[in-house]
Amino acid sequence: MFTEQQEEWLGEVMDKEIRSTFNVIDDPENYLQKVADRLQAQLPPSNTHYRFVIIDSPDLNSFGLVGGRIYIHRRMIAFTQNEDELATLLGHEMGHMVDHHVALRFSDFFQQMGVTSLGDRVDVLKHWKDFEDNYRKIKHRNDGQREAQEQIIADRIAMYALVRAGYDPEKGIAFADRLLETKGKTGSFWSDFTGSTNPNAKRFREMLKSERPLAHNCITKRPPEAGEFAAWQKTIIASTKSTTLAKADLPGLMRKVALQSQLRSDLSGIQFSPESTFSRRTKAAFLSLRVSRLPTCCVLTLLMPTPPDFLLTHAPWFFTTRNSGWKNGM
Ligand SMILES: [Zn+2]
Repeated sequence: MFTEQQEEWLGEVMDKEIRSTFNVIDDPENYLQKVADRLQAQLPPSNTHYRFVIIDSPDLNSFGLVGGRIYIHRRMIAFTQNEDELATLLGHEMGHMVDHHVALRFSDFFQQMGVTSLGDRVDVLKHWKDFEDNYRKIKHRNDGQREAQEQIIADRIAMYALVRAGYDPEKGIAFADRLLETKGKTGSFWSDFTGSTNPNAKRFREMLKSERPLAHNCITKRPPEAGEFAAWQKTIIASTKSTTLAKADLPGLMRKVALQSQLRSDLSGIQFSPESTFSRRTKAAFLSLRVSRLPTCCVLTLLMPTPPDFLLTHAPWFFTTRNSGWKNGM
């Protein structure tokens, strides 16, 4: 349903909302962009503008939305051991984008709302707002098989771009093995036959299959790494500066909670009291859902896009904490 331009418009509005939910860490050297540019040069030509955002989250995860918007959790940066591993991660998220996995999901959501085609920017934004208002009514088909297939496609695209860009596929594979905790296991004929092969093991097996030697003239030469990755990684892990955190004047701020170190999960979920009028509003329901996926940050800043007096009159609400339930992944 989406053209590349319409994906960009949708990506823009989603990005604004992500930035109001997560704290964003600056990438002063635009390091992610540089690695991604090398990979993109190996991918089919497209008008997608890849943009990378580091979010202050202790989860070992990353995700992409639409229109080239990719989000990497800070812990994932701490987890990578070299630029080749980082390139594997970025290549994977770019792979989802090349095949428009999230955009196809949104086509499905929009179709459920009766939308058959999209027009200009205003039209795309209008449908996004409708989506937010109707979030609860829209069916989210939990299709594990489709998701597993998408992961394999994204891995394949990553491996293809990675090798051609001069990165080491062995390091990419080592990274996936550590992240997916497959410990080198790919399942066997018998585990497939009895249906007991772990999906990550299957994914890892496919990744190994996609590692093919390439003719030397197909591989771009890359200058040897001179410690840039390690220095950059250190800066990101240590960073306490974030682009959305520093503002002192926060309308609707309810509470600030100081948390432990940058990479620890102390508080990861917030729920609203069921008797609160606030939580019965669809918009608020969507908001609380987004908030419940909030990462831990050095300082958790809870912002509400509604006036504070509304919240005060519509108490009681409460906070609960629980594990975020995010599995390791990309
Ligand atoms: Zn993925």
